[in-house]
Amino acid sequence: MSDVKRCDLHMHTVHSDGTLTPSELVQLAKKSGLACIALTDHDTLSGIEEAQAEGNRIGVEVIAGVEISVICEPGTMHILGFFVDRNSKKLKEELAEIQETRRIRNPVIIEKLQALGMDITLKEVEQESGGGQVGRPHFARALVKKGHVKNSEEAFDKYLTKGAPAYVDKRKLTSRDAIKMIEESGGVAALAHPKQLKLDHEPDQFERVIEQLKSEGMKGLEVYSSCQSKDEAARYRKTAERLGLLITGGSDFHGSNKPEVKLGWMGDGAMIPYETIDRMKKMILDRKKK
Ligand code: AMP
Ligand code: ZN
Ligand code: FE
Ligand code: FE
Repeated sequence: MSDVKRCDLHMHTVHSDGTLTPSELVQLAKKSGLACIALTDHDTLSGIEEAQAEGNRIGVEVIAGVEISVICEPGTMHILGFFVDRNSKKLKEELAEIQETRRIRNPVIIEKLQALGMDITLKEVEQESGGGQVGRPHFARALVKKGHVKNSEEAFDKYLTKGAPAYVDKRKLTSRDAIKMIEESGGVAALAHPKQLKLDHEPDQFERVIEQLKSEGMKGLEVYSSCQSKDEAARYRKTAERLGLLITGGSDFHGSNKPEVKLGWMGDGAMIPYETIDRMKKMILDRKKK
């Protein structure tokens, strides 16, 4: 193995819609040769304490992170936070409000699925989540289990993806609010998987959106992701370099909820060196000096 310290800055546990516990995830990171990971569960910091304890025990650096969905058209926009303060009362309260919007959404999705003729209950979906944040992958798994669809992909395509008949939007923050939340809790904000903005066919519009996010305080762009091709990554990299944004990357690992994605893999040959983490730490230090 090379002596480069490799990092993976995007992943989920059972605290949201992944399938490993924080300890299991950190153990897998160690086995996969990763020096540093960021745990970025959707809308919650609840897995971080366990992950950091396990990381300290076995020698993997665990960055406290989070992934927040924000308002966006036509695609989907997720903002990642790195080095957030997991004890920040304000951040925890703000995330609790977002979690509440999930709890409101879930029964509405169930009603829609039932109206479409499917026999499925909220309890069955909650069982899939094992007590963490309920997300659409849990609905997908329950639909598979009940035999309504062959696999999760079909569940998303037919029912759960944006625009499909059982899709229900969560009330979301604006990008400005999410970036502010992250930065005010000491963190660094980055745009997750830019491909999902669905602006690849409108390059000018894409550039304007990224510029706008930068003006709102965003510091990084997830150039490398398991959902982005080499060509896409090359394009996003140019944008990041033009605007002086940090180049980040992550697998968006979800365990067996997305079995094709391996921890540490963000496209063939792509990797994030530890220098990126040093740059984030320096940004945070410089901010404190001001
Ligand atoms: P939620 O936070 O409940 O809206 O669910 C978002 C999660 O669903 C994302 O993090 C993905 O893991 C997953 N997801 C969204 N769209 C799809 C899709 N088309 N196919 C498979 N998984 C998806
Ligand atoms: Zn997810
Ligand atoms: Fe995401
Ligand atoms: Fe994610």
